[in-house]
Parts: sequence; structure tokens; C-alpha cells
Amino acid sequence: MQRNIKQLISQMTLEEKASLCSGLSFWRTKGIERLGIPSIVLTDGPHGLRKQKEGADHLGLNESVPATCFPSAAGLACSWDRNLIEKVGVALGEECQAEDVAILLGPGANIKRSPLCGRNFEYFTEDPYLSSELAASHINGVQSQGVGTSLKHFAANNQEHRRMSVDSVVDERTLREIYLASFEGAVKKAQPWTVMSAYNMVNGTYASENEYLLTTILKEEWGLEGFVVSDWGAVDNRVNGLAAGLELEMPPTGGLSDQQIVEAIKNGQVSEEKLDQAVERLLKVIFKAVDNKNKNAVYDIENHHLLAREVASESMVLLKNEDYILPLKKEGTIAVIGAFAKSPRYQGGGSSHINPTKLDNIFEEIEKSAGSDSKVIYAQGYDLNSDDIDNQLVQEAREAASQSSVTVIFVGLPDRYESEGYDREHLRIPENQSRLIEAVAERQKNLVVVLSNGAPIEMPWIDRVKGLLEGYLGGQALGGAIADLLFGDTNPSGKLAETFPVRLKDNPSFLNFPGEGDNVEYKEGLFVGYRYYDTKEVKPLFPFGYGLSYTNFEYSNLSLSKKEMKDTETLTVSVNVKNIGQAAGKEIVQLYVRDIDSSVIRPEKELKGFDKVFLQPGEEKTVTFELNKRAFAYYNVSLKDWHVESGEYEILIGKSSQEIVAKGIINVVSTVQVRKVFTQNTPMGDMMADPIAGPIIMNFLSSLGQSMGAPQSDNEQSDMINAMMKYMPLRAFVSFSSGAFNYDMLNELLLHLNQASQNKDLTSKVN
Ligand code: BGC
Repeated sequence: MQRNIKQLISQMTLEEKASLCSGLSFWRTKGIERLGIPSIVLTDGPHGLRKQKEGADHLGLNESVPATCFPSAAGLACSWDRNLIEKVGVALGEECQAEDVAILLGPGANIKRSPLCGRNFEYFTEDPYLSSELAASHINGVQSQGVGTSLKHFAANNQEHRRMSVDSVVDERTLREIYLASFEGAVKKAQPWTVMSAYNMVNGTYASENEYLLTTILKEEWGLEGFVVSDWGAVDNRVNGLAAGLELEMPPTGGLSDQQIVEAIKNGQVSEEKLDQAVERLLKVIFKAVDNKNKNAVYDIENHHLLAREVASESMVLLKNEDYILPLKKEGTIAVIGAFAKSPRYQGGGSSHINPTKLDNIFEEIEKSAGSDSKVIYAQGYDLNSDDIDNQLVQEAREAASQSSVTVIFVGLPDRYESEGYDREHLRIPENQSRLIEAVAERQKNLVVVLSNGAPIEMPWIDRVKGLLEGYLGGQALGGAIADLLFGDTNPSGKLAETFPVRLKDNPSFLNFPGEGDNVEYKEGLFVGYRYYDTKEVKPLFPFGYGLSYTNFEYSNLSLSKKEMKDTETLTVSVNVKNIGQAAGKEIVQLYVRDIDSSVIRPEKELKGFDKVFLQPGEEKTVTFELNKRAFAYYNVSLKDWHVESGEYEILIGKSSQEIVAKGIINVVSTVQVRKVFTQNTPMGDMMADPIAGPIIMNFLSSLGQSMGAPQSDNEQSDMINAMMKYMPLRAFVSFSSGAFNYDMLNELLLHLNQASQNKDLTSKVN
């Protein structure tokens, strides 16, 4: 429906306009009846709907309407499947329509900086490219149903510790390349209707009052058309927020903030035009929601449960399969051990906590899949509500294991171990669970462990088990998915979207997480996740991108469409993948780029492409990637732009970040003119290495040598002199030439160097 929003705004009083900048209630925007402005509902999110009828809270405490609980983002990301995540988005959108929800609060695109972050289960990955691609798919899916999303928590919200007061101190390049890049692609590709500003401060300013983030970057650079909503309770100063680009405050403060806005406009602190712009953004989204409302929407609970099962099986990762212990045979006695098998942990705690439409019992699903030729027995093994070892339960588990031909143990992180609102303190599972694995392993060598957890754990017991399936928080249909994977009715195809370190200490943020007081400095810089492990060659327990299958894949014929390209062109990369095993299966093909010779500090390699292909036994397919400037660029803080250095780059095709199976080289030529400015403090080495300045400097040195009557030196000596001179600034020659080179000569030489450099059309590296 066509509406003249500007005209509508012109009919509003100042008070009415201000009133729209905060909600009506916990989950609703305000309407203005006399002008026909409706009120819409926003609610959590992200992997299911948490619509509360009464007893509103943002901590997941009070009951919400039943909705399908899909695997949380940590698992979803391991599917590396854009289409599948979009399908989940579509289903979520359908449920929102049916429940009259206009905006779903998600997805979360924060980077997993530390495995300790209590909310990692709600975030996708440690890699910004993967994160932004998957967030875009999620948004596209939901929004295809005429329901909005809220991409959250913008930005640098990577811990729960002191989350409402902590200042994330991040250098500009790291912020751009890691923490913002993880949102950037999603905003540009999918235009979320809203973006949620985070609780924390970023470099000294609250995210909800951060003009650089909310206006300069989000709206001006990335072109966000929708509005920014505060995280619930994230507003420190409402007027500063409005000025910075925060349109909606949630939840409302009973009119107090609206009044502050009115006063700020009256006393000229903020212009009325700024308020009008905010209201315009709000109304555009509110009317879009209303126009897209499907009044008769219903959804099929059973179909969504089946989708949740499919998604869960694509999201789980087979991490170990010694002696091909998996898939399990549907015969003999199978012991299922662990309280999680009957009381599954399938979602995380906090605002994303969903009241599922149904819930699988893992044990029963295993029994169903095992069929009548096998016997499935159970032992609880541990008390879910305690870490204490219960010897009686351990003994029963050992007996069950002794009677079985194979034993499957279910362990992981209980609810109390990880949640929104606080971080973990270590990466261990409860003592009674790890002890159980050791005790059962003494009785049964054919041991498989299935994990339920939202983030990595340490596994000191890993050598005692033959099979390991990472189930993450698999959603309401996890039981069916686990049974499908254990028995090979579905072939595992997930790969890790984060690195599992051997020990917490190995993680790059270890020394600076969660910071001191209200200050957390991201001192590891760009080296987050595999960017650190691969560059530093620290062996992880399982690398980024790793995951096994019941079949094998072979790669061949890597081909690059060109040998050389300008940074304004695109490169097409293709590679063949063949299923050389007996089972049909899916492979996730990963493309990384390595800058072979960079003048700036860069990680060993970075993910720039991925695809998931399904292959029948013997089948081969060609996977193709398009790479543009961004695939080769780093963020240059002097240019305030992404920049590619001229030079060679390696294209790496990997089964994981550490298993590279094919390599090619492309020469990229920068089209950006980076003008060099030489000063009296520029080291000689830099000038000598420059194609323009080099010959001028050599000339200068030889005439200076002659005028000073410098003696001939032997080779070794001249090598040493050259090496030392590399770091000598030009001004040092005034000090060391006893007057042969004076300040006038220095200034003349600099003028000459800078003019020559300016006149030349340079396409060289930046210093
Ligand atoms: C969370 C958000 C959530 C909001 C509303 C906050 O505590 O950080 O992710 O959307 O509550 O429940």
C-alpha cells in the first residue's frame, strides 16, 4: 500500500514523534491511533520463536507459546549450508506469521572470540565471512515470509562477563576485518529490517550511542535501510542514542526517555530533523510489517519438526571414527549411557529459550532406529544436577557396557554450565561425566561418545573412545537426528565452524579474556580462531572446518580463470570433487586465500569461499567460486578502505583449514594509487626499495661518498654497512657527514624525491 510517510510525520506533534522512539511494552512498538499508525510485535529469536503471552522477561524465565526449536546457531553453522539455513528462516517466518510476530530478534552474528563466552551457542562461528554468509541466509529466509529480523548484537559483544558495562577495546583494522565484517555482508546482502545495538561499549562509547557504528558504518557505508533497536536495556543515554542513530529503545522506560527526547529537541541539543529521520525509518518498517501480515497464517508442526530433524543431522559433526566403529550395526546389544539420552540438552539458556512443540527422547529414537534385531539397554551414569560422582550409577553403567557389543555415552554441558548472562570459567565437562567415560572405557573398547554442548570442551579422555559425534545443541528433533547419524541412515556432513583447542590456554584470547574490570582489550588483534592456530602453528584438538563422513572425497582439476587480474576484476575458481567411497554423502569444500608476500601483518590464510555438494558414490561435480577484491584485501587504516597489495596470492582448497588439498596462484595488481610521502625520518631501506626513490637515493649516496672521500670497503663490510643503513633516516646523514650534507641539501633532496614520486603513476604497496 502506498503511503506518504513524510506527510504523516508532518501531522505529528513533537511528543508523538518522540513517543515512537521507545516501545509500548516489553515486546511491542507504540502506535498512534488518530494517524492510523499500528503497533507491531518484536520477539526472540533466533532459532525458534519465544513469544510470551504474559510475564514478559528477556532471560527466558517465563513460559512462551509452543514453537519449533531448531538447532542453535553454533550447530546450524556446522552445516555450512546457505540453502538449509534459509529454509530454517522460512519456517521461522511462517511461525512468526502464525503467531502475529512482525520481527524476530535474530540472527546473532557476533564472533566467537573465546570458547568461554556463555552465548557462543547463539553465534555462528569464529570466521567473519562464514558468519555473514549464514546470517544473510537466515535473514533472507525469515524476511521472504514478510517478517523482519534483527541482526544482533552490534557490535563487539563477545562475552557475557559484565556485558552491560564492559568496554570492548578493539583496534580499527581488527574491528573492520573481524568483528564488523561478520555483520557487513549480512547487512549488504540481506537488508535486515532492523539491527540490534549491543549492551557493551566499543572503544569507549556505548554501542547504543556510537555514531561511528550506527550511522557512519551501518547506514552510510553499508546502506542499512531499516532501523536500529537497542538490546533490551542497552540504553545509557537516550538523547545521545538518538543523535548517534538509535531509533527504537526497548523495553520502554514508562515515557521517561520520550520526555528526554522532547526536552533535547526543545533546547536544541538534537535537531527535530534528526527525530523526523528516526521516525521515518521506524514507520517504513512498521508499515512494511503490517502490509506483509498474513492474517490466515498457520504452520505445520509435524513438517517443521521433520525439518528440525534434517537440519540437526546436517549440523552435527563426526569428529572421530577409529576402526570405522560408526555407523553402528543394527544388531547385538547396544548400551546407551548417560542422563542426556533421556533428558536431552537441546537448547541454550536465556532469551533464546524456546518452549518446543515436541521433544525427542534420544534413547527412544535409538531404540526405534536399531530395529528388532538388536537390544538397546540404558544406564543413567551420572546425575544431571550435580558434578559429584555417584559410584552406584557408574557401576551400573560399567555393567551395561560389559553386556554390550558397543556402548554409546551421552555427555556434555548441563544447562547450568553455559547460558546467556555469564561466561564459562573452564572448558571441562562435569567431573562425574568425564570420570564415567574413563570408567566405562575400562570395560568396553567399542565406545562412542555423543556430545551436547554449545561450545568447545576439553577432551582429556579422547584417546579412550573410538567414535565421537559433536551434537551441539541440536534442537527439539535431536534424538531422531542422532539415531540417523549413528546408524548411517544419514551420512554425517557437518564440519566445525570453530576451532576446538586442546586446552583453553591455547586460545588466542586467553591472556585477555574477559579483561580487567570494565575493560577488555582485544590484544590478539586479527588472530582469532584458526587465523591464530594456523599462523602460529599451534595444534588444535580439531581444526576449523574439520568433520568426517562415512564416505571419502577426492579433489582434482583446480583451475583459475586467469593468472593475473586487476583488483577491480573477478576471478573464477573451480575444482572437481568426487565421491570415491561406498555411501552417498555431502562434502563441504572450503576456499582460503593466502597473501604470499605481504608488507602488513596478515593471518596465514582466510576463508573466502565455501560450498556444500551432495554426491552419490562414484559421482563427480565441479564446484565454482567467484572471488572479487574483498577476497584479497585487508583493511587499510590510513586509506580508510579495503586495499589489495599488488603481488601473488595463493588460492587454497581445503577439507578443513589444516587439510589443504589443492593450490593455485594468482597475481593481483592494485589499481589504487598510494602516494608515498618521504620525510627526513623515512628509513633509507624504504627509500631504496622504492622504484622511484631507489635510484635517486643510490645516486645521492655515491656522490656523498665521493665528496666525503669514503674508503673502498670489502664485500663483507659493505654488506654490514648496507644492513645498518637500511634503518637510518635521511636526517642521520646530516649528523654523520661532518657538514658535507646539510639541512638545505636535505630539504632539496626531499623535495626532489616527493615530486618524483607524485609525478609517477604508482601502483605499489603501502608502507
Ligand atoms: C538479549 C537479546 C534479546 C533481548 C530480548 C537481551 O537480554 O541480549 O539477544 O533479543 O534480551 O529478549
